[in-house]
Amino acid sequence: MIIALPATRIQASSEETPAMKRFQQTMIVCAILLFTTTHAIAESNWKVGSDFAVITPQKPMWMAGYAARNKPSEGVASDLHAKAVVLDDGNKNKAAIITLDLISVPRGLRDRVANLIEKHHGVPADAVMLNCSHTHCGPVVRSPEATITDIDSEKVSQAVEYSRTLEKTLVKLVGGAIENSVPSTLTYHRARAAFAMNRRLPTANGFRNSPNPEGPVDHDVPVLKITDVDGKLTTILFGYACHNTTLGFYEFCGDYAGFAQTEIERAHPGVVAMFVMGCGGDQNPYPRRTLDLAITHGKTLATSVEAALQTPAISVSGPLQAKLEHVEVTYAAPPTKEELESRLSTSNKYIKRHTTRLLKQLEKEGKLRTSYTTLVQTFQFGDDLTLIALPGETVIDYSLRLKHEFSDRNVWVAGYSNDVFAYVPSKRVLNEGGYEGGGALIYFTTVLHPGPFAEDIEERIINSVHRQLEK
Ligand SMILES: [Zn+2]
Repeated sequence: MIIALPATRIQASSEETPAMKRFQQTMIVCAILLFTTTHAIAESNWKVGSDFAVITPQKPMWMAGYAARNKPSEGVASDLHAKAVVLDDGNKNKAAIITLDLISVPRGLRDRVANLIEKHHGVPADAVMLNCSHTHCGPVVRSPEATITDIDSEKVSQAVEYSRTLEKTLVKLVGGAIENSVPSTLTYHRARAAFAMNRRLPTANGFRNSPNPEGPVDHDVPVLKITDVDGKLTTILFGYACHNTTLGFYEFCGDYAGFAQTEIERAHPGVVAMFVMGCGGDQNPYPRRTLDLAITHGKTLATSVEAALQTPAISVSGPLQAKLEHVEVTYAAPPTKEELESRLSTSNKYIKRHTTRLLKQLEKEGKLRTSYTTLVQTFQFGDDLTLIALPGETVIDYSLRLKHEFSDRNVWVAGYSNDVFAYVPSKRVLNEGGYEGGGALIYFTTVLHPGPFAEDIEERIINSVHRQLEK
């Protein structure tokens, strides 16, 4: 509007002197400058702060991620971190994103932490996102109210104690991030990294956990760059969809995601670099198994982040709109008592343990679980960026599908957020079967899953995202 008025006047007048024309042209330039400056001020209403805490256990603990581990940790290869960024769009909309170098986010922990953050720091619980890197070299984390294993065992009791301390740390961390808040500018960038490969290899005997170069991948590296008013980098959020399973040894370590964060922070002193895990449920880093490879993958990812920072900046403005839905997913028909009893003759100790638990539940409660209610969350940054936070060990199909269905906008899809309760297969992976399709459910010790999910699990989760983004 400001620009249109002088422009119209120039076109309307055919008898102007050169001096008048120069004056009017100067007015146009001024109007453009005024418009640009006003626009820039509108975009810089963000107040953002971040903080970090070391969450490496102080003593040896049982480690999470591989059922076959038979002893506690034996040292520290690299520290584990919790990090928080608190975003305030200057219009009373706030969000807190917390990232963790840990295997999972137990639902109970998320709920308690989010509620305490709302109470003490004024960030609505629905706008609090917890995302874990899924490192397989962290401690077992366990909410006391949701454990199906013996709480008196050393493994579980120390995990519960660790989680209680962690909850307090995370609430304090958000307070620290708020204290560090300064007027900021947000920009979105993107690059790619290719060390993740699909890990579901079709064989004559079903899908095997092995590199499959033909399987779907999502190599995007989304980056949210946050700078202060002087243009100084303060916080970098970056994502990647790949299991943090380069390593499986007995030392605490953030795996490739930990090394990527360290590398970025080394290159940009004072910056808080935060890794957001994508839908890497069926993706592994390759090659793997040595500390050197974890460091190499970390450096590769950090290099991709640096590459992303060299791409044209997409300005991210508000308003910030956070939404969260409780979504019920259901299971396929559960096994009968007779089927369970016949399974007990198996020589597989994990199937036997799971079956025994199901039989106990059947005896005690008269039925097995038929559904589970989880959380699907979205953050909209004006029209510039949409962050979707999916629960569980979400497979890559979710990320690819959502980016396709919302191809008219910048979409960042995170998995492993707020409630890591199970592998979350797509309809395709569910029908193919194998580990992520349902086989892994026997290993989960926070929710007693009766068996694979029903076929509509993908639609239920995707529909929730559409409901949240299309309102
Ligand atoms: Zn996993």
